[in-house]
Amino acid sequence: MATVESVNGPIDVEELGLTLIHEHFRVTDEATRFQFPHLYDEQAEWDAALSDANAVKGHGVRTVVEPSAMFLHRDARFSKRVADESGVQVILATGVYTYDHLPQALMNRSEDELAEIFVHDIENGIQGTDIKAAFIKCAADEAGVTPGVEKVHRAAARASKQTGRPIMAHSHPKRETGLAQMRLFEEEGVDPAKVQVAHTGDTVDLDYIERLLDTGCWIGMDRYGLDIYLPTEQRQATVLALLEKGHSDRMFLSQDWCSTLDYFTEAVEEQLKPTAAPNWSMTFLFEQVIPELKERGMTEEQLAQMMVENPKRWLA
Ligand SMILES: [Zn+2]
Repeated sequence: MATVESVNGPIDVEELGLTLIHEHFRVTDEATRFQFPHLYDEQAEWDAALSDANAVKGHGVRTVVEPSAMFLHRDARFSKRVADESGVQVILATGVYTYDHLPQALMNRSEDELAEIFVHDIENGIQGTDIKAAFIKCAADEAGVTPGVEKVHRAAARASKQTGRPIMAHSHPKRETGLAQMRLFEEEGVDPAKVQVAHTGDTVDLDYIERLLDTGCWIGMDRYGLDIYLPTEQRQATVLALLEKGHSDRMFLSQDWCSTLDYFTEAVEEQLKPTAAPNWSMTFLFEQVIPELKERGMTEEQLAQMMVENPKRWLA
């Protein structure tokens, strides 16, 4: 029986059910909040997270994969509380979310030493708890594979090879970083079928997406509602084109929603939201995206493949 580590211990993959592969119950900057806690409202953050967990549960979601890592305020105890109070299963990662910067404490460690840190989270538990990481997160963005990014990718690769756990790699498709990221994993000898290249749905470039799929990886069509990166209509057209080409067995649908996000002050957020992400939420998929995809030809089988079968296969 294949199992996956959740915040409440291992669960049979058959119990994952309808799964959102990429959502965050809270994203804030760890250093800023530790130094300036008066900027943060713990109760409001908790209310937002629980309300989102209950809302997706109302749409039949049984599992939320939360790919928060270092620098995204991964907090195993907070995520466990969300799971305990909502009844939604939550799956966590280890890793570092950086586009280059690493603190001295990690810069002055080797790739192998960084890999050992990730392995600790997978085998012993996260942040002093017995909650184990189910996968490894890394990132490359507009700046591409910088020295810090390369180090984290190689460490993620080595931790994956040692533990057999899959990798989720945040990417920037407009710069085609996914291909460079896959090359790094290939150099390290990682089975490409263990890698999910997140945010591939931010482009309409089918040629790039198919070159990426040719490497053998999974792709995340996972930022529905973030119009600032790509409007919904273009995301829909891309997903439908890929479904027509038979790629439902390699894709995930999600929203990269953050119940709390501290990137902007409230005033700026109010200004940005109407154009940048007017419909963004943890339930947008169920309210608009999926009904529309079905109307335009997506079958129930394709939907189940992307949101039930693929999470099982990637996580196991
Ligand atoms: Zn994310």
